[in-house]
Amino acid sequence: MANASALPDTLVDRFNRRVSYVRLSVTDRCDFRCVYCMSEDMTFLPRSEILSLEELAAVGQAFAELGVDKIRITGGEPLVRHNVMELFQTLGALDGLKELTLTTNGSQLDRMAEPLREAGVRRINISLDSLDAERFRQITRVGDLNKVLAGIDAACEAGFERIKINTVAMKNRNDDEILPLVDFVVDRGMDISFIEEMPLGEIDDHDRAEVYMSSDEVADLIRQRHELVPTTETTGGPSRYFRIPETGTRVGFISPHSHNFCESCNRVRVTTEGRLLLCLGQEHSVDLRQILRDKPGDMLALKQAIVASMDIKPRGHDFNLQAKPVIFRHMSVTGG
Ligand code: SAM
Ligand code: SF4
Repeated sequence: MANASALPDTLVDRFNRRVSYVRLSVTDRCDFRCVYCMSEDMTFLPRSEILSLEELAAVGQAFAELGVDKIRITGGEPLVRHNVMELFQTLGALDGLKELTLTTNGSQLDRMAEPLREAGVRRINISLDSLDAERFRQITRVGDLNKVLAGIDAACEAGFERIKINTVAMKNRNDDEILPLVDFVVDRGMDISFIEEMPLGEIDDHDRAEVYMSSDEVADLIRQRHELVPTTETTGGPSRYFRIPETGTRVGFISPHSHNFCESCNRVRVTTEGRLLLCLGQEHSVDLRQILRDKPGDMLALKQAIVASMDIKPRGHDFNLQAKPVIFRHMSVTGG
């Protein structure tokens, strides 16, 4: 029978990729309904099916003890989860974790930026697809741009080491805002990543293939005004980065379609229901919730399941915008 000493102190999969990064989805709920992420009518999971804050903390601890040094909290909108700050405080105090970070839509940041910083979050990603209030509302269906801008200001004041804006680039939706968004981050000393829309879950707003804008098209637009100097820098995520000379700004591109990043994949995800998902674009998974609930407090069993999961991490995703989505999970359940 396996014991604690038989467990490795790092996670390595069949393709010799070291897994050092976990994205934890803490809720599938959200105060926005972004058109590329959710349908207008969403049914959310019943409370009993989602991991409790204690269960989430145990999952974070198990990964940290297996050599994971970066955890990103995401969702849904993580900051709408009741008492989520307790989780940040617990995870922020974990030994071995170099980085605790967060992806948020920014709607709650005006009141939560400072406590997050105090809990040990040093870098955050804030999603922003438009600087025009009307259009922002169309894309998010309900979002208030001014509230998000106030959140970004609060984050700047709270003293995060790095703030990165995430923008999903969409043809005829926000392609005319690529340059203004770059100016916005340059003015504030922030970074920005442009994301190609991924076919996750059925949506009713648009045909994904029609609004698809490749990272190369976005980069060409930016080059009309700024030089983009390639860097080998990485933040441990899938972005490829460029620097804009004489500014502190890095521009990243997350390009699942045009530049497959699977070969260097170092991450796994845990869904809101506690499914350890080995690849964003495939269904290979392990049910951690069952272990947490069948064997409460059994850290060894949890860690054994995580170690064993490395044998089913797939080589890569198989996204195809022309086909019907094969992945029925919305990004909000998986954790973006
Ligand atoms: N609610 C938070 C937010 O919006 O930042 C965190 C969760 S959200 C699912 C994380 C990121 O995924 C956001 O930057 C969002 O723009 C992106 N996203 C959502 N659905 C997507 C899709 N179908 N393709 C590409 N990116 C998507
Ligand atoms: Fe909510 Fe984020 Fe999805 Fe927008 S992208 S609906 S803010 S979870």
